[in-house]
Amino acid sequence: MSDNKKISAAPSWLGLSEDRERYLFIPERAEVVRRIFELAIGGMGSYAIANYLDEKKVPTFTQSETWDHTTIDYMLRNRATYGEYQPKSFADGHKKGIPNGPPVPNHYPAVIDRNTYETAQVARRQNLANRGRKGNELANIFAGLTTCAYCGNEVVLHHVTNIQVLACEQVLNGGGCSRTAWTYRDFEITLLAFLAHPALAERLQGEQKDKLIKLIDKIVVSTNQERSYAVRVDIAVLLKEIVTKIVVHFAGDVSTPRLPSAQISKDVRGRYFEIRLWDGRLDKCLSIS
Ligand SMILES: [Zn+2]
Repeated sequence: MSDNKKISAAPSWLGLSEDRERYLFIPERAEVVRRIFELAIGGMGSYAIANYLDEKKVPTFTQSETWDHTTIDYMLRNRATYGEYQPKSFADGHKKGIPNGPPVPNHYPAVIDRNTYETAQVARRQNLANRGRKGNELANIFAGLTTCAYCGNEVVLHHVTNIQVLACEQVLNGGGCSRTAWTYRDFEITLLAFLAHPALAERLQGEQKDKLIKLIDKIVVSTNQERSYAVRVDIAVLLKEIVTKIVVHFAGDVSTPRLPSAQISKDVRGRYFEIRLWDGRLDKCLSIS
């Protein structure tokens, strides 16, 4: 800034030099922003990310004690994260300003690259489309990975008399598909136990193997009841990196569509899932009960 223009404000993750002429890169904050983008790309919504940072006791960039989802949202949509500056006009009483002139690249010190930013935008759109806006985003750590074996539709979380179950979306929309469901807890325990088997790690290579071992550690050190929100976030993010697809056979190999009015039966004998891991192999895992 050779023209000695004073900067009035910097994005929250950057600092300002004492003479207010330069932006300062703050490594610890940059690291937090990178983590936020990583979590968003892993499928976490802004509420989930805020809870996660609070649980990990990551200090906010302001006086606030806790992270707010709107701050996270704003950050994830802010092109200043990769250095771009958009000049704005505040004429005619525009409070937020309207774009005025082309964006200026490399105006701010970048804390992420552009590719990371764009990847996060895609993940955010999917996340907003697939899930409710608030809460319980982590009730189902397999969201986006599971499909129905009989019709190929997505498998989603649903409540049957206060019990969380996974069921085919088609069934919940009143369409014709197998009216069977899998109790969520039973499904989670079965699937994580399968992934925690030592033989599995032998199959994967390099980074994927490291990620699976990290995942196994997370699964093993925490029993189901104790699993904290942050641990569930970690598991969900790792799952998305190791697992490419889970096909759920709610009623085993034989299932016939029943009338939309028929009751949804839970935990049918012979139910199993097929899971495709990063190495492309498909495994079959039967439920224990
Ligand atoms: Zn189905």
